Amino acid sequence: MLSAGCKLVDGYTRCAIIDYGRGDLYFISHDYYTLLQKMDRLKIKDIEKELDSDSRIHFYNFLDFILENELGFFADDPMKFPVMSEMPEDDYIELQDVIIEIDQQIFDLEIFLKLCDDLKNLRCKDFQIRLLSTADLKFLTTIVDIIETTNCNYIEIHCMFNPDITEDDLSEFVEKHVLVSHFYLYGAPFIRKKEVMNSIPGFHSLALGCLYYLNYSFDEGNCCGIINMGNLNFSSIYVHNKLKTRNGCLDKKISIDRFGNIKNCPSMSQVYGNVQDTSINEIIGNHDFRKYWFIKKDQISVCKVCEFRYSCTDCRAFTNDSTDMYGKPAKCGYDPYTGKWKDHAMHTVKHKMNFIQDSK
Ligand code: SF4
Repeated sequence: MLSAGCKLVDGYTRCAIIDYGRGDLYFISHDYYTLLQKMDRLKIKDIEKELDSDSRIHFYNFLDFILENELGFFADDPMKFPVMSEMPEDDYIELQDVIIEIDQQIFDLEIFLKLCDDLKNLRCKDFQIRLLSTADLKFLTTIVDIIETTNCNYIEIHCMFNPDITEDDLSEFVEKHVLVSHFYLYGAPFIRKKEVMNSIPGFHSLALGCLYYLNYSFDEGNCCGIINMGNLNFSSIYVHNKLKTRNGCLDKKISIDRFGNIKNCPSMSQVYGNVQDTSINEIIGNHDFRKYWFIKKDQISVCKVCEFRYSCTDCRAFTNDSTDMYGKPAKCGYDPYTGKWKDHAMHTVKHKMNFIQDSK
């Protein structure tokens, strides 16, 4: 039996075993993919009966490989290990993510309070704030204090680097606001990642959040949707399961631009209403708005034959064909028909990869 933390995915040129428990990836041929599917929960001696003597040698080698890497195990009674459901159990979440663009020059506190009240009622989990100006900690404190009243889980901030704000000031801000986990500063004169640690004397030193200094400008989200080997997910089986039924990026997401326009994503053009006169609840009930939530990787051109399709995000804002709702994400450098990445997309390979030769 394959371990519960491992998943098999078939692709055009090759197949994959993904060990989500360890974050490891193993490439296998279609023959071994079929064999693994067939042998699940069968007796070894019954599988052997089906194989000729040459194939048995490959079969034993393959079993050794599975056991050595703890990808599977023998069970006397497979009934004790029922197949686990792949349905994501997140029906209780009405809205997962919100992206809010803020232009300090035209910011309206009253509307922001109303918006946060709406998001609180929908129990929205994750907030991303895109401040379209340089960091202003006084202003950000006002914003974050309001968001914290919504009982969300997580706040991420994006803004331009401000040379007048020291790293100590930023660290103190993150330390005070425990929900602020990621703070991105664009246009910095250097690239750096700084973990903010709990500095209270006598307490364990815990990472409270992270400052990311980036030496390029914030391009209002156009940097979104880049897919390369380094940002595929090989560590969350929840994401794998979700990608089988939902969209990896837009599911339960809403975005509000600087003028209050409500969209699926800041980089998409279609507007569904404005926070000044429309409630978020009304928008997420709109069938047209929700249609992107259910676009699965199995429906996307090219992606549907890719062995990484349940480990990948799915950008619908930048696709190879703007007229096709199911076009391949434009910022992906992988071609599943050749099994090759373009050079630029390969730069951060961090996962262990193995390849098992075809059984003849
Ligand atoms: S081809 Fe599609 S599924 Fe495969 S890595 Fe690229 S975007 Fe992801």
